[in-house]
Amino acid sequence: MIEKKIIIAIDGFSSTGKSTIAKHLAAELNYLYVDTGAMYRAITYYAMQQKYVTKEFLDKNALIEDLPKITLDFVYNSELQFSEMCLNGVNVEREIRTIQVSKLVSKVSAISEVRRKLVEQQQAMGTKKGLVMDGRDIGTVVFPGAELKLFMTASPEKRAARRYKELLDKGHKVSYDEVLENVQQRDLIDSTREDSPLVKAKDAVEFDNSDMGLREQFERVYNLALLKISEA
Ligand code: C5P
Repeated sequence: MIEKKIIIAIDGFSSTGKSTIAKHLAAELNYLYVDTGAMYRAITYYAMQQKYVTKEFLDKNALIEDLPKITLDFVYNSELQFSEMCLNGVNVEREIRTIQVSKLVSKVSAISEVRRKLVEQQQAMGTKKGLVMDGRDIGTVVFPGAELKLFMTASPEKRAARRYKELLDKGHKVSYDEVLENVQQRDLIDSTREDSPLVKAKDAVEFDNSDMGLREQFERVYNLALLKISEA
């Protein structure tokens, strides 16, 4: 019997380790992994370059007008075994992870026209299933019919500590307090915006991983995935 492929949607607050779990899961199941946060970050980086967005200002109309000329692609880096984000053909993987982008991304991702463009592209990636996608609205808007939905949470302090370490390891200059404030600020904007707010889908399995190790978390998620695949 040929095993059916499913869609796995992973949503949750900022820096809850969604992408780590999603990446492992995709590698283990031989599925495609898509980090939708990278797409919102890339559009934000574009808007920053064009000076359409700053801390105090957002020229929504100028960005909306430019949307048709913005292309986003994931390009596989076989050395890193990871897909990197390309904005209009240029690899921006490093640029989109800075705290400067993190501070503006929730403002840009609240724009409905931006969401519509990215959701369409995300849905197109799931037509053949066999996909693990992480973000904020995957189980609620992008793939409401996903066979497995996970919703990740953890305390803001734990999340900020993880993200802070990650940024330092990658050589970014940032303070812990700045990261904590950013995580809390993004959670607030992401969960209170009008279009596609971050909420747990009714049928999502919730994981609070404040005190859960990666291995335990992965085993639980992997077993759930196998169960859903066997039922598909
Ligand atoms: O996942 P990551 O933290 O990189 O996401 C960056 C930001 O992109 C989020 O804080 C949120 O504003 C936006 N986002 C979104 N919908 C998604 C994924 C990310 O609004 N599906």
